[in-house]
Amino acid sequence: DRDLRKMLSEKRIKSVEDRSVGSEIFDQQTLKTLYKMANSGYLNILNGAISTGKEANVLKGIHEDGHFLAVKIYRINTSDFKKMQYYIQGDPRFKVRTTHKRQLVYAWVNKEYRNLKRSLEAGIVVPKPIISQNNVLIMEFIGDDDGNPAPILRNKAPENPEKAFESVVTSMKKLYHEAKLVHGDLSGFNILNNNEEMVIIDMSQSVVVDHPISRELLERDIDNIILDFKKFGVSASHEEVKQKILG
Ligand code: ATP
Repeated sequence: DRDLRKMLSEKRIKSVEDRSVGSEIFDQQTLKTLYKMANSGYLNILNGAISTGKEANVLKGIHEDGHFLAVKIYRINTSDFKKMQYYIQGDPRFKVRTTHKRQLVYAWVNKEYRNLKRSLEAGIVVPKPIISQNNVLIMEFIGDDDGNPAPILRNKAPENPEKAFESVVTSMKKLYHEAKLVHGDLSGFNILNNNEEMVIIDMSQSVVVDHPISRELLERDIDNIILDFKKFGVSASHEEVKQKILG
């Protein structure tokens, strides 16, 4: 397994599956998607799990150039379809009128890809999305050169909390006015502290500002951020932060 240059083979994906990931995320369709991505040169090797979440697993991938990638694989069976349907229905970018679970998850993953792309184009620090296909999203790996992923803000306090807070609020403002999105699940769990740079992640549920629930989600994001930064000694009021974002 030292030879990281070898092409991703069926055997190799399976060996990863057996070792550390658990076979449930690699159904036949997912394997097919991964092979396709490997054959198109997006991915060379899958190299273990970064995170096992409720709806998705994030794995570390390696490109044939040797650089690391983050590969987010949504599981079809454990997805919250009601939520997905609700969020997608109000989004004018998607004409998905399906109750077909797999199609819904595929749209959800494409939504995350597009949200990340829009955010990146608006100058917000997010992982650069590389490609999404079916239930797999490949994006920039956020972490060090040795392949250690950056910790979430919840697990690593910033050295300069005021500055980090400013940076997050600025991102929220740009997200609102330039990307015209509301994150919708922002907290210290979905911000990576990458050497003091605040990187916003997990944008599948992010909605366009025209979405009927965007304001409600924005209010919640503000509350969560204030609460998390309070633990680092930053005090700010809801109204003040809201004014900064909308004002
Ligand atoms: P959960 O179900 O736990 O809320 P999720 O399935 O919504 O998670 P994310 O929040 O996008 O998935 O990612 C899960 C974890 O994977 C993150 O907390 C982070 O530790 C890691 N991670 C995600 N994206 C990246 C990335 N681009 N680079 C490095 N690590 C990442």
